[in-house]
Amino acid sequence: MFWTRIHRLSQTITARMALSFAVASACILLVLSYGLYSLVNGQLTKDDRDVLADAVSLLTITLREQDNNQFLLNRRLPEELNAFHFNRYQVRLLAKSGQHRVLFQSLHFPTALISRFGTTPLGREETCQKQGRTYLILQVQGLLGDHNPQPILIQTALETTARVNTLLRLKNSLIQLVCIGVFLFSVLGMIVVRLGLRPLRQFSHRIQGIRMDSLDARINIKDWPSELGPLADSFNRLLGQLEKDVDQLTRFSGDLAHELRTPITNLRVETEVLLEKARTVEEYRAVLEGNLIELERLSKVIDRILLLAKMDSPQLALEMTPCQMAPLVSKLFDFYALLAEEKEINLSLTGDCLIFGDEPLVEQAVGNILSNAIKYTPPKGHVRVRLFQEANQAQGLNQDNLQGVVCVQDDGPGISPEHLPHIFERFYRVDSSRSQIIAGDGLGLAIVKAIMDVHDGDVVVHSESGQGSDFRLCFPTPPVESVTH
Ligand code: ADP
Repeated sequence: MFWTRIHRLSQTITARMALSFAVASACILLVLSYGLYSLVNGQLTKDDRDVLADAVSLLTITLREQDNNQFLLNRRLPEELNAFHFNRYQVRLLAKSGQHRVLFQSLHFPTALISRFGTTPLGREETCQKQGRTYLILQVQGLLGDHNPQPILIQTALETTARVNTLLRLKNSLIQLVCIGVFLFSVLGMIVVRLGLRPLRQFSHRIQGIRMDSLDARINIKDWPSELGPLADSFNRLLGQLEKDVDQLTRFSGDLAHELRTPITNLRVETEVLLEKARTVEEYRAVLEGNLIELERLSKVIDRILLLAKMDSPQLALEMTPCQMAPLVSKLFDFYALLAEEKEINLSLTGDCLIFGDEPLVEQAVGNILSNAIKYTPPKGHVRVRLFQEANQAQGLNQDNLQGVVCVQDDGPGISPEHLPHIFERFYRVDSSRSQIIAGDGLGLAIVKAIMDVHDGDVVVHSESGQGSDFRLCFPTPPVESVTH
């Protein structure tokens, strides 16, 4: 439970930003503290070295000035040392000859630290473990006496314990400051991030408030920080699309109910009337034949709705193959030949093209356009089908982006501009006296549009009232490899 919460917290932007702040501030503070410590340490050490060097050069001169060695060693030297921070500065004089006899040694000289025979290098700093004190040690050669100078070894030690302790305290304080600084920066980072994410939380609340009945609500992009602008914009576009789809779906289900209710009511009423009294066999036959026609129509509508649902399904698997269009259109001409002959409509086909698609669906799309053309063209009219290839304008005029076009032209009544944007909607029928007479369910073009969409193709219509219609189905052409195989 605890670890789950910790894990969840570590996934938050706030935690990640706070951690980044902590790491960044730790790095900066550590570098600054190290720099400050080195600066103070270097300056204090230099001061001590200067003090010791001055003291030693003074001592060397003093030892050369006096001829009376006993007076110097017993009286003058202790006095001089007293004057010069006696407790901090310790001296030992050793005769260079023989056993390095001690000629003079100040009271607190750290004998444990400096050997009488060893060769202590100049300016070496050491810690005397015994007493926990630190000394800066300097050993030089000198001469004792003025007239007959005696070679001696001058060993000096300047106590630096106070400096070392001060530096240690400084180091500890800096470590504490770094820790406090890192903590404060992390907390500050958290607060800053939480404040920064506030618009995002408000954004999320606004999204949560959107319901099916408020899909027309839009997020006002002007109110949001510019970084959230693209997100709000995308969300508004998504809402727009959803609103359109839901609207279409609502209309579709309403139309569907209406489309099915009328014939079913008719069937029921006719059956009820038929059953009210005894009828002759002919009467039964007449009603049943009428009902059969209505049932066939209903069954066709249901098949078409199922086809549309299949088209909408993400699981739709297309069997894409190269399709030669001229033979396919000829086959459709044969299928509609009877209907065309009845109305004495002349069907003509020119050109050919190779497209890439699922053949049964392609046939369905072209068949729907062709059947509409024959259906809406007046008797003795013409329906022309032209097949050709052209460059896909949408993808640039490039020879590699060819599309196969099936163009169906008729000299029927045409479609007026106010209806043109809607004719591909489900159950949409141009509400004219003509449409009332000509049988249809308003699903034919919706199916064409759905088929073209799943093929990444396009359907374009040019039509004017009284000028005939020109429907173009633009299919992709087969990829090079599928043609060569
Ligand atoms: P319908 O079953 O009514 O034909 P469609 O979806 O096939 O349904 O067509 C929708 C509407 O578009 C039709 O009601 C008709 O008014 C109009 N339409 C389609 N094709 C043509 C055409 N070739 N000429 C004139 N109007 C057409």
